[in-house]
Amino acid sequence: MDSAPVYDAELLDKVTNLAKRRGFIFQSAEIYGGFRSTYDYGPLGVNMLRNVKQAWWRSMVQLRSDIVGLDAAILGPSAIWAASGHLETFTDPLVDCKKCKERWREDKIDGVCPNCGSTEFTEPRAFNLMFKTQAGPVEGEGATAYLRPETAQGMFTNFANVLSTTRKKPPFGIAQIGKSFRNEITPQNFVFRTREFEQMEMEYFVPPAEAQEWYRYWVEARFRWYVDLGIPEDQLRLHEHAPEDLSHYSKGTTDVEFAFPWGWDELEGVANRGDYDLAQHANASGVALYYFDQASGERYRPYVIEPAAGATRAMMAFLMSAYHEDTIEGETRTVLRLDWRLAPYQIAVLPLSKKPELEGVSGEVLDMLRPHFMCDYDVTQSIGRRYRRQDEVGTPYCITVDFDTLNDRAVTVRDRDTTAQVRVPLDELLAHVQQRTGPRSA
Ligand code: ATP
Repeated sequence: MDSAPVYDAELLDKVTNLAKRRGFIFQSAEIYGGFRSTYDYGPLGVNMLRNVKQAWWRSMVQLRSDIVGLDAAILGPSAIWAASGHLETFTDPLVDCKKCKERWREDKIDGVCPNCGSTEFTEPRAFNLMFKTQAGPVEGEGATAYLRPETAQGMFTNFANVLSTTRKKPPFGIAQIGKSFRNEITPQNFVFRTREFEQMEMEYFVPPAEAQEWYRYWVEARFRWYVDLGIPEDQLRLHEHAPEDLSHYSKGTTDVEFAFPWGWDELEGVANRGDYDLAQHANASGVALYYFDQASGERYRPYVIEPAAGATRAMMAFLMSAYHEDTIEGETRTVLRLDWRLAPYQIAVLPLSKKPELEGVSGEVLDMLRPHFMCDYDVTQSIGRRYRRQDEVGTPYCITVDFDTLNDRAVTVRDRDTTAQVRVPLDELLAHVQQRTGPRSA
């Protein structure tokens, strides 16, 4: 697991270009010259990002009875961020290069300016990463609001609401997916580090004596989630933080790292946060944040195990890991070997010809498959070109409707990875595809 993978220096450019060219991810405000570090998810990207989030939600919430969901506000008052410690400590060390004047995050540059190679910098100053704004027309402290820099605090501030409305008892979790905002000093590497991004976080509340056991459980479970969705194990590793590197509240942190083209880097952090968050909010708000076990009469403040992942960052890792170039019949093709659950389209329906005779039956195929799968429909260009276009965006199955279909009521199903083609009767088509994929959650 720890052996260094072979990094493909060109992979970042290849995936970035493909993402732009095929409508996964666009530079935001491009017609105005672009807005640095913000991105818009295009027709294919929005499908894939939703699939990443759906896969997470399915494994965290849908398939379990101990975790419930939440969708909390993005805007929050200063009180939350004072209690959580973000106002005081959510800072990065900012330095200016004395030679070229570029600004950098000191802990990310190894003492050398990545722009000009100089080693002379100003003294580091603490730069708070939160975006501050005004809520309402009233000026002054009462109206100051912040865009959340993580989704986690919504789970802590709603701990008592969720407890009383769901009747859960520890160990239980609250899961949330949503946008977070950080005024990163050096956003970089495409969507790896951006100022606006999406997180998938879960706070798992446990009896303190069980915390270490659950911490180990979640480290393993989260590593397995990426493997299950197609990232080979040798492109992933676990990196446990040394005690001296832990945040002040953490009793243990392990990152799930991916072999990005620039080296191992974080996909997700799993931390044992102790009772830090609930204690901070209880002290600051005056609301008792405890669990009371009626059966034993015991009252205690649960510890929290937090797996915190980035949806946009995970999507980038899935794209990189799936990107392949291979040779089919002497021709090089680009293929995204995405797991079918993540692919923007699971199926493309391709009538062999634009002739109107094929329209009716192609529509029939689409009507049959669309309630179950995301389907693309493409009638342009030669069939070979259309297969390549679908391979390049990871569509697992192409279904070709031809003139024989009008007589034999069968279509050709082509597999993205093997390029093997089989003839399948229309009345077996849905079952055929479902056998090769699996249950699809709503
Ligand atoms: P770093 O030290 O790299 O700034 P972090 O350790 O502060 O990141 P966390 O606060 O643990 O990150 O956030 C949890 C997850 O959210 C990260 O593992 C990552 O996947 C995602 N994430 C955090 N910041 C960003 C960002 N600026 N852009 C995209 N994803 C991010």
